[in-house]
Amino acid sequence: MTMPIDMAARHTHRPMRSFLIATCVFLPACAANNWDAIEADSRGCAGDEISVCGRLFHTGTRVVLWSEPGGYDAYSDAPAFPDELRGWSFAPGRRYSTRRTAPAVVKASGVWHIQDLQAVVDQFVIHYDVCGTSRQCFRVLHDLRKLSVHFLLDVDGTIYQTLDLAERAWHGTRANDRSVGIEIAHIGAYPRAQHRALLEWYRVDENGPYVRFPKRIKNTGVRTPNFVARPSRAELVAGNIQGQDLWQYDFTDQQYAALAKLTAALAKIFPRLRVDYPRTPEGQLRTTALGDDEFRQYSGLIGHYHVQTNKTDPGPAFDWDRLLCEVRQ
Ligand SMILES: [Zn+2]
Repeated sequence: MTMPIDMAARHTHRPMRSFLIATCVFLPACAANNWDAIEADSRGCAGDEISVCGRLFHTGTRVVLWSEPGGYDAYSDAPAFPDELRGWSFAPGRRYSTRRTAPAVVKASGVWHIQDLQAVVDQFVIHYDVCGTSRQCFRVLHDLRKLSVHFLLDVDGTIYQTLDLAERAWHGTRANDRSVGIEIAHIGAYPRAQHRALLEWYRVDENGPYVRFPKRIKNTGVRTPNFVARPSRAELVAGNIQGQDLWQYDFTDQQYAALAKLTAALAKIFPRLRVDYPRTPEGQLRTTALGDDEFRQYSGLIGHYHVQTNKTDPGPAFDWDRLLCEVRQ
C-alpha cells in the first residue's frame, strides 16, 4: 500500500521519479480494485507514470512529468521560455486552481486522497492545441494566456503531465471542476480544404502528407529525433462540427496509441469515467455542444466542442471509434 502525499504541501513535495516525499498518512488496507493493479512504486522508474494525488500509476506509454528534465511545469511562477515572450509580459500568479470543489472530508483535512478525487472526476476532455507542438502549446498556455491543462500529447506520442490530477486545470470552462484535460499537438480544422494554415503546415511526399513545421518554430521540442509526423489517414477529412463544415488532417498513429493507453489508465483510476463519447439518440457521434442538463448527466470522454458552442476541437478528423477500440484492447 502506498501513501498519498499531503496535497496542501505539494508545492514543495512534487512527485519526482528519483524520490517521492510522502507524508505519513496511512490508509487502511483496501480491497483489490482496478487502480491497485497499475500503481507504481514511488520512484517511478518506468517512465510511463502519471501522478494522481501524489501517487504514481503506470500507463504503458511514455509520460514526462513536470518535475523531470524537459518537463513542462504548470506550478512554476516563472515563464517556461523567457526568451520567447516577444512583447508579452509574463504575469506571475495562478494558472490553475489548487482545489476542485471538494467533498466535505477534503475540506476538513485539506488532503485529497484518490477516493475523494474519484467522487469528483468523471470526464476526460480532448482538445487539439492549434499550436502544432506541445512545447509551443505550453508556451501559449503558461507564458502567454495564464491557462493550464493536465496533459499535453506531442506529435511523436510523448505525453507531458504538467499538474497533478488533483488540481483543477483551466482548459474547458464548465468541465474544469470534474475533468482531466489533454491538449493534442495539432494545427487544427479549417473551413476550407485550401486554407492557408493547412498549406503552411503540411507537405506531401511519396508516402503521403506529413507535417513540415514552419521556419518560425526554431525549436519544436519533439523528443524523438528526426520524427516525421504523418497523419494516420492520407486524405484530408471533412466533417461538420457545431454546424460548420471543416477540413482537417488526422492525428498521428503515435498520438492515437498513446492516448488510448492514457485513457485506459484513467478509466481504471476513475471508475465513473465511462469509455464512451457523447452520442445522438441514434447512437452516432454527437457533433454539437451538450445542453446544461445533458452535460450535467454526462460522464465519459468528451470533446471540447461538446463542452462549449464556440469550440470545434478535436475536429472532424478525430477518430472516436478508433480510440474506443484501442482503449478496449
Ligand atoms: Zn480546446
